[in-house]
Amino acid sequence: MFLSVFDIFKIGVGPSSSHTMGPMLAAVRFLDTLGAGTGTRPSALRVTLHGSLAFTGKGHATDRAVILGLLGFLPQTLEPDRADVLVEAVRDTRRIPVRGLGDLTFDPETDLVFDYGDPLPGHANGLVIEALGSEGEAILRETYYSVGGGFVVTAAELEAQQAGAPDDFGREKAALGYPFPFGSAAEMLAMGAAAGCSIAAMKRANETVALGDGLDAALDRILDAMDCCIERGLSQGGILPGGLKVRRRAKSIYETLLGERGLNRAQPHAVNDWMSVYAMAVNEENAAGGRVVTSPTNGAAGVVPAVLRYYRDHCFGATREGQRDVLLVAAAIGGLIKHNASISGAEVGCQGEVGSAAAMAVAGLCAALGGSNAQVENAAEIALEHHLGMTCDPAGGLVQVPCIERNALGAIKAVSSASLALRGDGQHFMPLDNCVRVMLETGRDMSRKYKETSTGGIAVNLPEC
Ligand code: SF4
Repeated sequence: MFLSVFDIFKIGVGPSSSHTMGPMLAAVRFLDTLGAGTGTRPSALRVTLHGSLAFTGKGHATDRAVILGLLGFLPQTLEPDRADVLVEAVRDTRRIPVRGLGDLTFDPETDLVFDYGDPLPGHANGLVIEALGSEGEAILRETYYSVGGGFVVTAAELEAQQAGAPDDFGREKAALGYPFPFGSAAEMLAMGAAAGCSIAAMKRANETVALGDGLDAALDRILDAMDCCIERGLSQGGILPGGLKVRRRAKSIYETLLGERGLNRAQPHAVNDWMSVYAMAVNEENAAGGRVVTSPTNGAAGVVPAVLRYYRDHCFGATREGQRDVLLVAAAIGGLIKHNASISGAEVGCQGEVGSAAAMAVAGLCAALGGSNAQVENAAEIALEHHLGMTCDPAGGLVQVPCIERNALGAIKAVSSASLALRGDGQHFMPLDNCVRVMLETGRDMSRKYKETSTGGIAVNLPEC
């Protein structure tokens, strides 16, 4: 599976790529299959959420996302206000209008089932969608897995992917005409050395196969969407939805920072606060269900935009071309992590989300600041290594605590990792590929309590309100 920069960075809606966008896309995919014809007219729909989707689905708005998907909405084109009215209509009438099939029975209270038993065998985020006939018999039944970052596969697709040999990735990319079909960091470095190309140039060459001259404009749309999200987050106050009464803080911190700068009173470490406030702005928007860029997930969506904004506004010699390189190189690293391990908190904990985002961001920043390929690989490894073991235990099943601050710290760690790598020559002890493998093994060994089920850690040690 070739992962484009636009697979890694997708414009969507909060609060979760795996629990909101993924289930929405699964529902849309199911309707496509149903619409292609089954021979029998369905009269009802039923959806069952399993594993982490059941345990944290309410906090992550998975139920709303499924209804939106069944209504035909896609994350990238969703109009939140209109969508809310239609979701309420489904709840009131217990019927759902399905394109080409008319109104089908669907009562979210009884036909959207949260199954708290064992997860499905393929992945911690599984859902089964069924179309039922007039006697309640299943006409069509499909199992989907939301494997992180908004990626959705059917059970059969997942099985085929898991059966593939590790180097199928590279062979597939080569067969599709991608000039640099790397499937590991070692291959990426070797190809770069052989061709005398930077990682950004190799990724650009791969992406140009599909997009040609349109690549820069498409990258700019992602950059602009990230900027819009930061700006909106910096302008919104109040309490986040979900019941934890978490206050939005980005706006007030931002205003304080602006004041300190105006008075020339900022401490040197205030630069960390700038990075924090950019990341928190994005993650507060995400928690509020706003429009964000999945990078590589929604829970971790603040790290890459924060580092990009840091590069643009705080680094000497920053350019638009440099910002595009950040995206390209970050996507190259994110693709390697997704292919060789996981970017799903439900599968490997937060090390796979914020850890991956930090590795991606630092690689991009290091490249934009003139780092060699070896320094870029070193930088990504430093950032990932120092997120190893990080659990996912969000309070209330919401993407707020610890997620919002965690993105801030992920951005700071990313920038420090870039600085450290740039002070070396790229030679280092632990290769990135090994670190990615360690992340996967650590995730496999991690208790289910700490993999987006909100049954351990922070989620069960909340203060009395
Ligand atoms: S703790 Fe990390 S992995 Fe878990 S929901 Fe929050 S950001 Fe995502």
